[in-house]
Amino acid sequence: MIKVLDSFTADKIAAGEVIERPVSAVKELVENSIDAGATQIIVEIRGGGKSYIRITDNGCGIAPDEAETAFLRHATSKISSVSDLDEIVSLGFRGEALASISAVSRLTMVSRTADEATGIKLVMHGGRLVSSERTGANTGTTIIVEDLFYNTPARRKFMKSDAREASAVTELVQQFAIYYAGIKFMMINNSRTVFATKGDGDVIAAAGALYPDIHADRLIPVEGDMIRGYVSDPGTTRTNRKGQFFFVNGRLVDSPVIEKGLTDGYSGRIFSGHPLAILFIDQEPRDIDVNIHPGKREIRFLRQDEVRQNITDAVNAAVMSGRGVPEAFAVRSAPEEAPAAETAKTADPSENAQRSIRDYLRGLERPEEAVQASRDASAAAAADAVREEPAQYESISHAPFDFSELVFKGYVFDTYIIMQGEDSLYVFDQHAAHERVFYERFMDGYRNSTHIPQPVLTPFTINVSADVYLSERNHLDGLRSMGYDIEDFGDRTFIVRGVPEYMTLEEADGFARGWFEGSGELRGGMNETVRDKLIMRSCKSAVKANDSLTEKEISDLIGKLSECGNPFSCPHGRPTFIRVTSYEIERSFRRK
Ligand code: ADP
Ligand code: MG
Repeated sequence: MIKVLDSFTADKIAAGEVIERPVSAVKELVENSIDAGATQIIVEIRGGGKSYIRITDNGCGIAPDEAETAFLRHATSKISSVSDLDEIVSLGFRGEALASISAVSRLTMVSRTADEATGIKLVMHGGRLVSSERTGANTGTTIIVEDLFYNTPARRKFMKSDAREASAVTELVQQFAIYYAGIKFMMINNSRTVFATKGDGDVIAAAGALYPDIHADRLIPVEGDMIRGYVSDPGTTRTNRKGQFFFVNGRLVDSPVIEKGLTDGYSGRIFSGHPLAILFIDQEPRDIDVNIHPGKREIRFLRQDEVRQNITDAVNAAVMSGRGVPEAFAVRSAPEEAPAAETAKTADPSENAQRSIRDYLRGLERPEEAVQASRDASAAAAADAVREEPAQYESISHAPFDFSELVFKGYVFDTYIIMQGEDSLYVFDQHAAHERVFYERFMDGYRNSTHIPQPVLTPFTINVSADVYLSERNHLDGLRSMGYDIEDFGDRTFIVRGVPEYMTLEEADGFARGWFEGSGELRGGMNETVRDKLIMRSCKSAVKANDSLTEKEISDLIGKLSECGNPFSCPHGRPTFIRVTSYEIERSFRRK
């Protein structure tokens, strides 16, 4: 029998869509506080948020006669018609959060507006009003959510352990604290303060207060079309993406499009892991689809190729500049997440090197502004404080790295070349540099040659192991398409009668051997990327190992490297050279 659900049941089902876990309730409530113009937000949870969530803000508050209305489904003060939907600037607009959360918990709200002498206290159980009374209160709103999903046992089962739920909430509040660096955040878990930010508007300091590896002197400013922010040099990465924060029009989002754009921007310079990034992306509201799923952070861009390309270009300009050369003292994988309490201590914003980024930051148009502009009158004071600062746009220089300023200073361990630049010395790894030079020459040659083999006077043979022989004998097309004249010669042997025109005989020999060594695991459709990878691996074998270079050879190598499209890393993503700043040296000698 088909029947229309009563509204109570319908509410509980709908609530499940918006509120899946404690972290989704916290997200909605904090967004409400931000929309209310709060400059201070305290988030407290117990039992992973399952038993207790408290959000206290100093925002505009809710008038007593509107308090009950706020809990009705589709009750919102933020839009009034469909046409407003295209121009949404507030974080909430569906008017569903309070209705949903109150339907599946025991909720208490205390709120007072600035122009009322007393506030109001509402208690709701499972969406039903239990009590409503006037009460003394500070300006702002406190919402306490207890026993989440107490009346929906099926939902409750899907929640993870207290620790997992608590860390999801903490992570979320950290992300808010970074984006809304102008708002003071405090996070309390089981009566312990996990972190507190200053709310002074300094994004990097806020990020650094939470994550020790986000450190101003390691981040490179990024500026491009509709995008700005910071990324780490390719040597500073994490094993997961937790050091990446993407904001679109004030909303923290998850986006494979942005991730792809970011990764591509490094053009293969990352050896392992994921770079750190804080990216602010602006889009016309009509170019994004915020309506995919109310509970998720995923966003859909209507011009996604353009967005991805803009990100790639901006990140690429930043990491290909001189600032993208990994610093010697920073070349290591960033530590995994340190406990937040410990990280709070390491936040020392007084460091010299942070100043330049902070200056740069100050010049940025605050991303919060767009949102703040839409806030009600009580938010105006906070917004003005931000606007008061004169907008000084400092242009960041992304001049390409200047090899011509380098002066040869020495050669150590038969491997490392020391060069001096204006205020830094650079250490080149001759093998990594060689690989890069070979790789680009081969790729260029491959793309531009006729692929007609150059016959060799004396054909040579290549012996391989039985397994390689069996797997490769019917797959010689890859090498042929590069310009090899190669055939199965029987008995675990291949014979080469012609080589690509862009390789010397010696290179062609080494390359083909490397190809066989590395090909097994990558064998698949011979598309362009598989071939790229094979070339990348094979050219390693073409590089001379442990050779002591003459000064002439060194200057040839550096010269060729400087002509590469990406001189900064070998094809496997290892740096070709690193930088030691004079500042670091002086600091090590305690001169600074
Ligand atoms: P939405 O945020 O989509 O409008 P909600 O259900 O989250 O819907 O909130 C309903 C309304 O309650 C909001 O539009 C706002 O007017 C009011 N409100 C909710 N939380 C707060 C708060 N912390 N401070 C002031 N007003 C609030
Ligand atoms: Mg809301």
